[in-house]
Amino acid sequence: MRTICVTGGAGFLGSHLCERLLERGDNVICVDNFFTGRKDNILHLMGNPRFEVIRQDIVHPFYLEADQIYNLACPASPVAYQYNPIKTIKTSTVGMVNILGLAKRCRARVLQASTSEVYGDPSVHPQTEDYWGNVNPIGPRSCYDEGKRVAESLCINYHLAHGVEVRIVRIFNTYGPRMDPNDGRVISNFIVQALKGLPLTVYGDGLQTRSFCYCDDLIRGFMALMDQDEEIGPVNIGNPGEFTMLELAEEVLKATGSSSKIVHEPLPKDDPKQRCPDITRAKRLLNWEPQVNLAAGLARTVPYYRKELGLA
Ligand code: NAD
Ligand code: UDP
Ligand code: UDP
Repeated sequence: MRTICVTGGAGFLGSHLCERLLERGDNVICVDNFFTGRKDNILHLMGNPRFEVIRQDIVHPFYLEADQIYNLACPASPVAYQYNPIKTIKTSTVGMVNILGLAKRCRARVLQASTSEVYGDPSVHPQTEDYWGNVNPIGPRSCYDEGKRVAESLCINYHLAHGVEVRIVRIFNTYGPRMDPNDGRVISNFIVQALKGLPLTVYGDGLQTRSFCYCDDLIRGFMALMDQDEEIGPVNIGNPGEFTMLELAEEVLKATGSSSKIVHEPLPKDDPKQRCPDITRAKRLLNWEPQVNLAAGLARTVPYYRKELGLA
């Protein structure tokens, strides 16, 4: 039986990952400072004797024994990661050093949850892993983007210098149940607005694109990358179905049966114009591809928000 540490385990993706790992019989140690994570996300796991929760900020050194570490600790929504940008940078840099120090001591394998944001506002489309990106190093997104870029560099250099086994996954926009209704990301905003009968806030002209992956598909990709012995990555994991924000708004209206209107609000600075993963590498190396399209994923997600809003 293996012991697996999941940092950020009380967050949206972390809670799904903890659930899958417990289901297959692992011991799971969830490490979280509860900045954007919530106990509610893991309440249903608390009774499991193989599940343990530690309130800990990864920016401060900590000690435990594990065979694998999934490092998901970092706020993911632009509103959350820009709330305290210096803290965000520390989490992805100082925190990453601590995780790699921990992995070195325990001889554990580390999977780093990197992001499509390392590509910035990309000039290559769709994005392949060998594209180096177009990031504004002093813009409002830089605390997140540059932090994640340093984290990748730390992973590679701990691997080269100390032989730490690392895996780097570049996650493209992912959604599903337990994504915080108030975290400001587009899918949660649109669903909550649609269910409340409020106008859907489309930023800018709404012609910018994103590609949305359902959480279960993503977690399967994570585990496939972690559990193979050949490839370090980086590997893009995401759904190549690409939608403009106007198209997404229409999909959300359909999925919720809402007749909300659409309103336009100013586009945030440095908002990437397009984003779509090239998943050739994930298909070839991991035999992975997404199975849940946007309409099916929204149909699984909307009931969660209905319940959260007290409408179910
Ligand atoms: P989330 O905000 O729901 O989860 C992040 C978790 O990390 C939260 O539980 C939070 O409390 C915890 N955390 C934050 N800073 C911490 C710290 N210093 N020490 C300990 N815990 C800390 O976000 P999510 O969507 O579940 O994202 C999980 C990971 O995946 C993040 O690293 C994020 O950058 C990455 N990612 C997510 C997406 C996406 O679309 N969901 C896309 C790209 C990358
Ligand atoms: N570290 C940690 N937990 C551990 C092992 C190390 O938090 O189980 C921290 C340690 O405090 C150090 C960092 O990880 O600051 C990097 O560790 P490394 O061994 O690379 O560096 P060193 O201790 O040599 O500076
Ligand atoms: N967006 C929007 N309305 C919202 C929230 C976001 O139109 O209420 C847009 C945002 O400008 C961006 C896209 O949706 O172009 C995705 O935003 P999100 O914050 O979810 O993630 P990002 O991919 O930008 O990190």
